[in-house]
Amino acid sequence: MQKKKSGLSLPIRILIGLVLGIIVGILLQSNPEIADKYIKPLGTIFLNLIKLIIVPLVFSSLLVGVADLQDVTKIGKIGLKTVVYFLATTAIALFIGLLLGNVLNVGGGFVIPTGDITYEAATAPSFIDTLVGIIPSNPLNSIVLGQMLQIIVFALILGAGLLAVGEKGRPVFNFFNGIAEAMYSITGGIMKLAPIGVFGLITPVIANNGPGVLLPLSRAILVVYLACFLHAAIVYSSTVKYLGKMSLKKFYKAAFAPWAMAFTTSSSSGTLPITLETAEKELGVSKSVASFVLPLGATINMDGTAIYQGVGALFIAQVYGIDLTISQQLTIVLTATLASIGTAGVPGAGMIMLAMVLQGVGLPIEGIALIAGVDRIFDMARTSINVLGDLACSIVVAKSEGELGLAPPEEVAE
Ligand code: ASP
Repeated sequence: MQKKKSGLSLPIRILIGLVLGIIVGILLQSNPEIADKYIKPLGTIFLNLIKLIIVPLVFSSLLVGVADLQDVTKIGKIGLKTVVYFLATTAIALFIGLLLGNVLNVGGGFVIPTGDITYEAATAPSFIDTLVGIIPSNPLNSIVLGQMLQIIVFALILGAGLLAVGEKGRPVFNFFNGIAEAMYSITGGIMKLAPIGVFGLITPVIANNGPGVLLPLSRAILVVYLACFLHAAIVYSSTVKYLGKMSLKKFYKAAFAPWAMAFTTSSSSGTLPITLETAEKELGVSKSVASFVLPLGATINMDGTAIYQGVGALFIAQVYGIDLTISQQLTIVLTATLASIGTAGVPGAGMIMLAMVLQGVGLPIEGIALIAGVDRIFDMARTSINVLGDLACSIVVAKSEGELGLAPPEEVAE
């Protein structure tokens, strides 16, 4: 986020890209193929640029973050706080989603034309499989395949190893530190293209899913958006303010760029470079905390996804005329918490994992076909909340470790 020549800050330019994209999308509703053919590639190029740096960025920044901790016990402390925050906020998110879904009767009045509903049952790996698979037996293979959880585990292990051998590991540390720095710098360059990328991503979504398509599902969309909003307003605001002792104005102002990126790319992983930059440069989170909490959060902390999965399950139950008991709804809280952890930070992943939640309470998986058409609209909301949750956590953890605002942007030399 460098000084701007045009006089407009990056968030404003991203916002302009977003609004322009919506307008052009509406104009192209009758000819969505034009949007798909000529405008979507802009978004795809932008996404590819971001994807290109994800694996080296996550690996090197996490490894350096761990290896840079003075003391091995600190990893455990930060790790514990992070995971507790992630789990607690995800469970609260589900309660908010289910409460709103029940109160607002999310699927009420929408009768499904049963019969022609088809949905290919997605392969949702079981929780145990996910746990076992987390330890990569062949880490280089995981890197090649871009398996984020495994990459994170390998980076943590190698980082801890470097920490343990001290000086002998210096050359390796410096090597990865160099890679991490280069990735941050590349991120800055890519971000300058964000307004165009955002425009290219949003236009085809609007052109293809005109407001008409959204109508039957508007109540479900409304509930998810409202729940996401309330979750941020209540949970993130209070934890940032009271635990992180940071002004909300500062937090939300800085969070706008990652929020907008997440909203338009629907990818927590894709947004990670910007989230990292914002946490460190704008919010003063120390590098070691940011590079631990944020990559982990982009992979396992998905409050927006949990809200969507909870509300989605309720919606499907209601349109199928199935009454869920309280204990079934508690099962949803549990399975959706796990499902959101297992959801990859890429577009559409939350919908695939919704199958796991539906299965957990015996709801028809075919119900996913009902919401699949507008999944992207849900995805935009849930991803932006996912990312906001990661940022909030980084502030809370950094504060508790005395690692917040030690080197605010103004004071950073260079
Ligand atoms: N797109 C979401 C994310 O990247 C995951 C999901 O589909 O829920 O955070």
